[in-house]
Parts: sequence; structure tokens; C-alpha cells
Amino acid sequence: MVGLYERDAKALSRMSFLRFFPQAVIGGDGAYLIGEDGRRLLDFSAAWGAASLGHSHPALRAAVARALASQAGASHLSSANLPAVELAEKLLSIVPQRAAGRVWLGHSGSDASETAARAVVAATGRPRIISFKGAYHGGTVGSMAVSGHPVQQGVPKAPGLSLIPYPNPYRDGGEHAASESAIAQLEDLLSGPAPPEEVAALFLEPIQSDGGMIVPPAGYFRTVEEICRRHGILLVVDEVKVGLGRTGTLHAFEQLDIEPDIIIFGKGLGGGLPVSAAIGPEAIMNHKPAFSFQTVHGNPVCAAAGLAVLQTIERERLADNAAEVGQHLRDLLQRLKNTHPIIGDVRGRGLSIGIELVADRTSKEPAKIEAALTIYRAFELGLVLYYVGVNSNVLELTPPLTLTKEQASEGVALLDQAMSDVMSGRVDRSALTAFAGW
Ligand SMILES: *Cc1c(COP(=O)(O)O)cnc(C)c1O
Repeated sequence: MVGLYERDAKALSRMSFLRFFPQAVIGGDGAYLIGEDGRRLLDFSAAWGAASLGHSHPALRAAVARALASQAGASHLSSANLPAVELAEKLLSIVPQRAAGRVWLGHSGSDASETAARAVVAATGRPRIISFKGAYHGGTVGSMAVSGHPVQQGVPKAPGLSLIPYPNPYRDGGEHAASESAIAQLEDLLSGPAPPEEVAALFLEPIQSDGGMIVPPAGYFRTVEEICRRHGILLVVDEVKVGLGRTGTLHAFEQLDIEPDIIIFGKGLGGGLPVSAAIGPEAIMNHKPAFSFQTVHGNPVCAAAGLAVLQTIERERLADNAAEVGQHLRDLLQRLKNTHPIIGDVRGRGLSIGIELVADRTSKEPAKIEAALTIYRAFELGLVLYYVGVNSNVLELTPPLTLTKEQASEGVALLDQAMSDVMSGRVDRSALTAFAGW
């Protein structure tokens, strides 16, 4: 019998693949995926954070079943429907006043970022946007145009885009030095090539996740906010991967002590269903009717899923769980550093964690192949996680927010074993030839 993974390769376009090992799943249960071979795989990725409640959470199943039992149309494009209105009202109630104007609902972090990028320019009449090197805001033309991730090299950028460095304490000489030099470059940009009165917005990730799970230096974004306020530059905060409880607070930006003008949600908002949101002041997010729409946005099924996710995060206190289990996980991972010299840095907030692998702790040379081999071996042992980073050497942990301490410990034991196997040469490099990664 032909396996699922082979059928997938023969039927689906690899343009949409980002594969690291031959994973084929037929079901899921909480923090576990069920492989076609019957194995239970502990999921430390949750599909890059999208499966925020884990797999088959009862609240999500019930909400989707209810919305489908008597489906209130398929879109809010030309008709109001209750789940879309309820989701929008809920979102307005959880964001700071400054942003609580109007909600634009979409399907993905990409379409929400793209809509925000278009709206800030159109509504302010300012043609420029500032964003960060290494930033990932999406995979559509308009969201790639304001991103700085090397996987999108060669893709045209927005004509008014300027990319500035994201301060990296591990690689840029510690928190203070990293922050100072990044601020200096922002100030240079504004006093030269990008006159502030021409800049509509600055797009930021509270943790630069696809760029390498980089946690910004304390106080850095406060200074960025001050500079932006001085010049009337809007702050667009992309909470797509690390928002909605993942960092241990409801919003990741709370820990930066800043107030966004516009907030982007995606991934975890739908708990695995496609729903995203861009939320901001009426003057921007109500710019013009029919300015940015797709046929089934605000469809009642995905909207109901989004509302159920938000309610479940509150009811089950999942932000608190992320803080507590995340701390436990980081403690265990810090301990792994003692036995695995390949671990250069362990960092993160709550259940957004990065483990940077280096060939040498002094030179910090990225251990790219070892990162790919480690997650390959982890998968063989029963643990799912992927890597990120502009150097492809940072293991990324974004498990379901429902993860327990026991599951965290179980996963770290598997990762420990995987690293030992890789470092002792027990994992064949040729295993990687079929997997391009990124
Ligand atoms: C994944 C991601 C996006 C894009 O979301 P998609 O659902 O892939 O369109 C945008 N911003 C950040 C920070 C992300 O991690």
C-alpha cells in the first residue's frame, strides 16, 4: 500500500511545502498527533503555533459544530452574521483603547498584515513603512513586501520600505549594546533616507520568531515607541505567532510595555482554522468600503472558532499555563546546556522558546546541519518541532498552550536523546536530502 506521505508528494504542490521529515498524520489528541503508523507524536510545534488549544479541543469542536448546524451564510462581505460580530466585539474588548476602533477579519496572518500595510499608507497619505531585517509578516505579495526574512530573498519589497536591524542580545554584544546600536540605526534612517513625516508605520514582532526567536532587549521597544510617537508614526504590532497567551500574558506586547496602534492576530486565533484579524483606530481601519476583501472572510464557522479560542484561553487560564509550563521548559532546557555544548542559547517567553545551536560557543558559528538532523531525529523518537532563524539554526518550541509540565519533561527527554544521537554520529546526514527545510 502506498503511504500517505508518498500520496501527498504525488498530489500536492511542493511550492507550499516546508518539510523537515516524513510526517504524515491521521489525527490528533491534545498535545499529541497521531501518525499514520499509529505512533503518538508529542507536538512541540502545534503547526507553528496555530493549534493553540492542541488538537481536537472539545470547546473548538463544539463551536464549529454549532456554527455549522444552521450556517448563517458563508461570509460577512455582504451580510452581517452573529459569530463574526461576536468575534469582533470580543477582540475589541481585549485590546488597549488606542487600538480598539474597528476589526478587519481575514484568513491568515498574511492577509491581515497586507491589509494593515495597505491601509496605513492609504489612510495617512504617508508612503513609507519601516520594518525589520529577519521579519516575517506573511507569504502573500503585499505581506512579503513589508517583510525582511531571507527565505523571501528576491521578492520585490514595497517601494517605501526600509528595513532596520532587530536587536539580538546573543549576537550583538548583550542587551545594552544591541539596543543602543539598533536605536542609533533607526535614528539615522529617520534623519536621512526616510524622513519621518513620510513614514506611515513601523511594523514589529514582539519576539522575532521566524527570524530566530529573538527576544528584544529590555526597554528597546519603549524607545522605539517614543520615537514613533514624536513623529506620528503608527506602531503595527504583529502578534500572529506569539500573541494570545503564548508568552505568558494575553498579549506579547504587554511585556514590552508599549501600546500598539494596530494589532495583527492570526495562527493561534483560529486554533487551527483559518482566521486572522487586523485591529486599529477607526481612522485607519475604516478607511474606505470595499478596500480589502475576500469572499469568505468573516465566515461564521471560522469566526465561531476564533471566539471559542479566546473564551477557552480565558476560561482555562492558558496564558498563566504558558507562563508556568514555559518556565519549567526553559529551566529543563538550560540544564541541557551543561551536557550539550552545541546549545549556544536558550531564550523565550512563556511557550515561545528558541534553542540556538552553534558549532562553537565562542565563534557562535551557526550549527545549521545539526539543527536539521536534531529535529529529524526527534521526529523518529516521537517529538515534533521545527527550526527557524535567518541562519536556520534555532529550534523553535511553540507547543499547544494546554501543554502540561509532564509533557514538557517528556519532550525535553526526547530532545536530549536526539541531540546525543546527532552528536555521536548515529544519525545519517543523507536522511536530509529529501527535505529542503528553509
Ligand atoms: C506566520 C506568521 C505570519 C503569516 O501568517 P500566515 O498564517 O502564514 O499567513 C505573519 N506574521 C508572523 C509573525 C508569523 O509568524
